[in-house]
Amino acid sequence: MRALVQTAFGGPEAVGVQRVPDPEPGPHDVIVQVAACALNRLDLLQRRGPGLLPGFSLPHIAGMDIAGHVVATGASVTSRAVGDRVVVDPTVGCGSCPYCRAGERGHCASLRVIGGNAPGGYAEFVAVPAGLAHPVPEHVGLDEAATLPTPWSTAWQATYRVGEVGADDCVVIQAAASSVSIAAIQLAKRAGARVVAVASTDEKLATAADLGADLLLRGDAPIDGPIRDFTGGRGADVVLDHVGAATWQRSLDCLRVGGRMVMFGNTTGDEVSFSLASVYHRGLRLLGAGAYAADDFPLMLDAYFSGGLRTVLAAECGLEDLHAGFGLDDSRALVGRVLVRP
Ligand SMILES: [Zn+2]
Repeated sequence: MRALVQTAFGGPEAVGVQRVPDPEPGPHDVIVQVAACALNRLDLLQRRGPGLLPGFSLPHIAGMDIAGHVVATGASVTSRAVGDRVVVDPTVGCGSCPYCRAGERGHCASLRVIGGNAPGGYAEFVAVPAGLAHPVPEHVGLDEAATLPTPWSTAWQATYRVGEVGADDCVVIQAAASSVSIAAIQLAKRAGARVVAVASTDEKLATAADLGADLLLRGDAPIDGPIRDFTGGRGADVVLDHVGAATWQRSLDCLRVGGRMVMFGNTTGDEVSFSLASVYHRGLRLLGAGAYAADDFPLMLDAYFSGGLRTVLAAECGLEDLHAGFGLDDSRALVGRVLVRP
């Protein structure tokens, strides 16, 4: 099969299309012919190096967000059949450790991530455990389905399971036009919350408005005052922040007494310093949202497939032009997902 294989760390020259052996299904696997695979930021970070997931090694086939058709099944698979349209949960646990048994396989010491530290979807075919290949209903396109796995599961976990966002909440969403935030805005609105979108450009804020955000704020201007005005002086109930160091203090400052700070990323830096008293005096809750739980993925899919939610596509391309074209090294400028059709 053709696959985009990473053989070194660096720029677009570190990857190239090669012919590699077709994957063989293990007894509990299915082989998916990839219809579409969405570019994930981790793909770019690991191409530049170093590998970030434990067990990452070269050569590597990236691509975590995969949808396609089942074309072969392992000997023990009864739950899926050839021809099924599926979308893939890329996190594969050992199945037997305490984390896996508790539904928290993202913390499994033996975690395999399809496209992260195991062969992924920048290829014509990929082998995945049958139980992680979820059916896609006919009314949802495979392109659309491929945009869902990691950003929507992450947003589901941050918004609902960790943030416990509800109808009475005012939720501030930083980097509001990122793929995760595009999901989070809609999930917060779905819960009945009011959403304050913070983003770096007017174009990104327009996307947030289109998705239902109630208040739009540029991140290069003060946000605390407008959020206080919007909430009758009280402050936000929840902040969803996967930006990290650059937005940390402003996110804390705009919370109400007892507010929840949900942190789940560090793209602008991993280290911050802050006043402990400013947090404990106000009774703020600092909540980390790491790997999504096993249940988050099917719950997210059920919600998405039942309608009323949508994704945003930025561009699409073939394997050959994925890294060379589209200016993907600066993908933070893009709004929406980049789709690859192997
Ligand atoms: Zn495990």
